[in-house]
Amino acid sequence: MARLSIIALGLLYGLSNILGVVADTTTLTDPAIDGTIDLGFPSVNITAILAEAENELGVNGTITDNLPDDGYGAPGTTITARDIEKLQELRKRTFGNSKGIFGAIACLSLKIIFPTKTATPGSSNYNSWNNPSFWSATTYMTPTCVFRPTSVDDVSLAMQLIFISQSDFNVVGGGHSAIKGWANTEDGVLIILSGLTGVKVKSGYAEVSAGERWGNVFTVLDQHKLMALGGRMSPVGVPGLVLGGGISYLTNQHGFVADQVKNFQVVLANGWVVNANAVANADLFRALKGGSSNFGIVTRIDLHTWPCPKGVYSGQLYFSDTRDYPKMFDAVYKYHTVGALTDVQSHLISAFVYVQIPGLGGMHMGAFTAFRTISDSETNPGPGPALQEIVDLNPTVKSSSTLKVRPYGSQAIELGSGDVRGLRQDMRDFSVYADKQLYIDLFQIWNSTMTVKHGAKTGFMGTIAFQPITTKAIAAGGLRGGNSLGLEGNTKTMAIINLTHQWLDPTHDKEILASLDEVMTKSIALAKARGLHHRYYYLNYAHKDSNPICGYGRASVDRLKKVSRFYDPCGVFQSRVPGGFKIPEPSSCPI
Ligand SMILES: Cc1cc2nc3c(=O)[nH]c(=O)nc-3n(C[C@H](O)[C@H](O)[C@H](O)COP(=O)(O)OP(=O)(O)OC[C@H]3O[C@@H](n4cnc5c(N)ncnc54)[C@H](O)[C@@H]3O)c2cc1C
Repeated sequence: MARLSIIALGLLYGLSNILGVVADTTTLTDPAIDGTIDLGFPSVNITAILAEAENELGVNGTITDNLPDDGYGAPGTTITARDIEKLQELRKRTFGNSKGIFGAIACLSLKIIFPTKTATPGSSNYNSWNNPSFWSATTYMTPTCVFRPTSVDDVSLAMQLIFISQSDFNVVGGGHSAIKGWANTEDGVLIILSGLTGVKVKSGYAEVSAGERWGNVFTVLDQHKLMALGGRMSPVGVPGLVLGGGISYLTNQHGFVADQVKNFQVVLANGWVVNANAVANADLFRALKGGSSNFGIVTRIDLHTWPCPKGVYSGQLYFSDTRDYPKMFDAVYKYHTVGALTDVQSHLISAFVYVQIPGLGGMHMGAFTAFRTISDSETNPGPGPALQEIVDLNPTVKSSSTLKVRPYGSQAIELGSGDVRGLRQDMRDFSVYADKQLYIDLFQIWNSTMTVKHGAKTGFMGTIAFQPITTKAIAAGGLRGGNSLGLEGNTKTMAIINLTHQWLDPTHDKEILASLDEVMTKSIALAKARGLHHRYYYLNYAHKDSNPICGYGRASVDRLKKVSRFYDPCGVFQSRVPGGFKIPEPSSCPI
């Protein structure tokens, strides 16, 4: 333990060198950890492990000859800016000649230290951990190895090893990103977080390990009659959703899910474990609220909780008669601009779906979820005035809905039960200011481009959903110290327009994706022409070319850049994690 503390301090010293500050004055502090890392592997000497891996691969000295003279991982080790530069030069040189050697060294080293937690292609663990981690078949890849840690110490040690070995890597939480390479990598180490589990209920908050999915989080909270902000479908992963912002059933009242995080436990690029909260590393704390995978591997997220003694009133409503659509758009618009503000306990998912049903053909459907928390004083729970118009739209739909009083988590579980993995999926979005006619016209663009052209394809399902973000929701985030999303200046309701599509046959990828590009181009052009376009792209739904972090605005991007330089001075998460939305140059982003 003492030796590892010295290593940790050595890393801090190295970090401080790069930053041009001395360790005493750096703000990188963590009162809970006292600058020590309890790795649980006191006899690990990283240099020796790397040398063993190099030897087995017949590439002796590739990394180890370039390590500091006193060896990395030996007592009293420090790593300086010059050492890191040397390693980066080495990476450039070697990568040109022999791509993949760093990944091979990192993987073999991990296999030596963690034989049961590291798997290589062809093994049964590789097969059962790799592709099954992902929601969409479009994201399958073949990493050099997969590493499945079961503790923060595992992540910390693995990260030190990856840091020094110069390998590429990526991290997957619940695997619900639909973008290839965003939570996966072709070369190097894929860190799969599904072994980091546990939801611990504390006073006023819950500690949620990063391998959890929302269904289990809510099930545990329900046992304590508590609720927390989280995803609206049970199988979705916790970390990706929170790090991109997170839209919850409670968003109208409490803001984005990230706004209601009390603390992030993060493993930095050099393996150092820190907490980020309102007191410790507060700049990192704010950056993580929307900054995605740019700063470290989040291993635990502590979420604020609220009592939910009477459960919630919620359920699904399916409108299959398109003659109801004009009334529905009217009600949705009213909800976005009035109801979502006057009754913040309510929430509405308004999705317009086209689905291909075997034997029956294609059909349009409004798939709405109406939700409302029940306050202590309520004796007759119901949808409340804000959602009443939606619920009353069509009496047949109302009578066949699943609306009822239920535990908080049960709505996410009901919606999540329809989630299918392993199909071809695409998600993308853009934002507009709330406007009824624009909603109708965006629906028409989508309908004529997607359902008319592709609706008959096997397994096709397309959705356009309208998600309000109100000024009250944004203000709730401000009360918790703000986030990275750059929405503070909003003066009226905006709506995230989310397009989600699935299909079966990979040979249809090209034409479906081309049509989706067309929908985006036409829709954004229309919104701009009417002065209703908003620069924001919700990162968790965004298309890979959307550059959502730029959409946060220059001031936010500037902050993110500074935080990245401080906590990841070698730019490991910018250059060695091949996918994910990176932090752009602030000057290239809108003000
Ligand atoms: C069916 C479905 C329902 C959804 N419902 C909602 C909803 O109700 N509300 C909402 O806001 N969004 C929703 N989303 C979008 C969702 O937020 C994103 O798909 C999000 O990425 C899911 O998180 P994940 O952990 O599963 O992601 P992953 O695919 O595992 O990861 C996404 C990104 O985060 C990074 N990452 C993951 N874990 C970590 C970590 N621990 N540390 C650092 N980086 C990490 C990955 O490298 C990747 O870049 C939904 C998506 C789907 C497919």
